[in-house]
Parts: sequence; C-alpha cells; structure tokens
Amino acid sequence: MTEADILKALSNVQEPDLGKDLVTLNMVKDIVIDDNEVSFTIVLTTPACPLKEIIGKASENAIHTFVNKNAKVNINFTAHTTTNRKDALQLLTGVKNIIAVVSGKGGVGKSTVAANLALALAEGGAHVGLMDADIYGPSVPIMFGVRGQRPMMREMNGKGIIIPLEKYHIKLMSIGLLVDEKNAVVWRGPMASSAIKQFVTEVDWGELDYLVIDMPPGTGDIHLTLMQTVPVTGVVIVTTPQPVALADAKKGIAMFGQAQINVPIIGLVENMAYFTPAELPNNKYYLFGKEGGKKLAEEYELPFLGQIPIVQSIREGGDTGVPAMAGDDVISQEAFRTITNIAVRNIAMRNANMINTQPVAVPS
Ligand code: ADP
Repeated sequence: MTEADILKALSNVQEPDLGKDLVTLNMVKDIVIDDNEVSFTIVLTTPACPLKEIIGKASENAIHTFVNKNAKVNINFTAHTTTNRKDALQLLTGVKNIIAVVSGKGGVGKSTVAANLALALAEGGAHVGLMDADIYGPSVPIMFGVRGQRPMMREMNGKGIIIPLEKYHIKLMSIGLLVDEKNAVVWRGPMASSAIKQFVTEVDWGELDYLVIDMPPGTGDIHLTLMQTVPVTGVVIVTTPQPVALADAKKGIAMFGQAQINVPIIGLVENMAYFTPAELPNNKYYLFGKEGGKKLAEEYELPFLGQIPIVQSIREGGDTGVPAMAGDDVISQEAFRTITNIAVRNIAMRNANMINTQPVAVPS
C-alpha cells in the first residue's frame, strides 16, 4: 500500500452533500501506512457533521475494494468549519457563520429553538455564540439561568469591549444582561438598533464556528439594521402549525426573499407540532393543526428542518435555566438534533456552492 493508492481509493468516495470526492475537496490528511495498516484524518466541514459515519464507512470500503481487502483502516476525524465570508468587514472577524433565527409572530418558540440549536451545535464540538437580539423580550438570561449576572469588560485597542458570559460552552450576550429588563421594553427604534450594533461591534465574540442570533419577532427595523450590519449566512424561520402563525411566517419569508435583501433561508422549523402524552407514547395529537409548517415549506420550496413536539420539559427547562439540550428529555433532544443536523448540512452546502455573504445594502 502506498499513499498514492490510498488517495486513489479515496477519490472514489463522495461527500454526499457536496457531490465531490474527498480528495478533490482536500478532506484527507496525514496518511500513515504501516505494513497492512493505514491511518489517516478526514477533515469534515463542521464538527457536528451528521455524515461522519457514512463517510467513514465508505472510505473503509473503498480501501478494502481498491487497495487491500485485509487492510486495517484507522480514521481520525477533525473538522474545519467552512465559511463563505470574503467580506472585508472589520466586524465579527473570527465568526465563520451567522445564523439568524426569526419568526413572524411572538410566542412560537423562536428563542427556544435558537437556544437549543446553539446547544446542539456545541454538542458536536463547534464553538458557538448566542446573541439575544430580541431587545423587547430578551429571554436568554432566564433560559440559561444567568439572570442578574453582568458581563465583564476589558480594554482592546484603547476601547472598552464586553466579554460575553459563558454557559454550557456557549458564549452569551443579551440586553437583559446589561440593563434592567423592564427598561429595555420601552426603548424605541433607534435605541434598539444602536444596542444591536453594539452587540456586533463592542462584544468580544472571538473565534466562533457559528453565531446564532435570536431575532425579535416579526419583520421590523432591527431586522433591517442587522442584515445591513453583518453578513448573515442565512435565516432559520420558526413557526407553529396554526394558520395565524403561518400567515405571519409568510411575511418573514417574503422579507428575507425580497430582491434587495435576499438572505438565504437555511430552513423552516415547525415547533409545537403535536403533543404526545407520556402515558400514550404512540399517540400524536395535532393541537394546532397537522403539518402546517411542513406544508408551508413545501409551498414555498424551502428546506424543511423538522418538527418539534410540545413537551412539558421544554417549557420547564426554558423557565428554569436548563434548555432542553442541557436537560434529560431524549425525545425533545432528538428533535433538536435533527433540525440542527439538517441546518448544518444546508449551511455547508451553501458555503460550498453559493456566492459569498455580504451585508445587505438597503436604503435606510
Ligand atoms: P418566542 O421566542 O417565539 O417568543 P419562546 O421560545 O419564548 O417563544 O417560547 C414561548 C413559550 O413556549 C416559552 O415558555 C417556551 O418554554 C414554550 N415553548 C416553546 N417551544 C415549546 C415546545 N416545543 N414545547 C413546550 N413548550 C414550548
């Protein structure tokens, strides 16, 4: 066995999402051959890569088929999260991907999805930040149990800069950590917009694979400010299945799809999709209507990330500072992992195939 044999064999293995082989994609590193044994590293597009096992199995098969059927194959996995940032902005320079979580309406679970998406990404080994941009209803302090804690400041290039709090390996920032929550509610447009700008320019986010932004509900000034200020990789839209929520979700889809804005939609999440009582685990009750979110995604030809059931512990965890992904309810965790896996695949595909992200130029 030679290194050339191994590379030739691995050039038959496709990265299923990107549609190219591992060698062309430069994903194979550090090949070491010792008699009948070969070791090498596969560099994935994200630490949370859901295709890890498939790619590993296919690589082993390729070596057995094309090189030596008795070879012992050891594969290490590392990840280099992809980005498509090529902007020259001096903003969030260490942040590879920016995911804005939005909803047409309040109360549909946008903050819950943003928090658990962040946790599921971090569970896979990614460096993750969560920016609570829901100025009028900040929920990160309660959801992460950090209410009353104040972030520290430090000086950088003669300027004061805020160090985000950290909990469950997530860097956190929220207006609720800086001012009394009751005061933030009465802020008006320009103040809210400037607070958001401050979150981007004066917070030390450091090196992140993903910065998740919990946006305010609806489609307003803050959305425009943010889209104009930072190069958002894409948005995740959260809705519940009932028609009133779907009608508002459509407004969100329309806003982000507008020609001047045109921020890609990573996918749609249907929250509170059904209820399953603990004593009847095989029953699903569609309290808010069946598959409204899924059908909306089909109608608008958007990627569907998945359904999240109504689970009492999701609500309880959110209120007690232990989001579902940090708790012990396996069913809700599976649902959040599924949506996260599809989201990271969509982001990796976008990074591989699409033009680079730029902040949106909207006349203000
Ligand atoms: P939004 O950010 O859209 O206003 P939140 O994430 O704050 O919504 O959720 C509103 C309320 O619904 C919270 O109390 C939250 O814990 C609860 N909730 C959200 N999703 C679920 C779910 N799947 N199951 C049970 N409760 C949920």
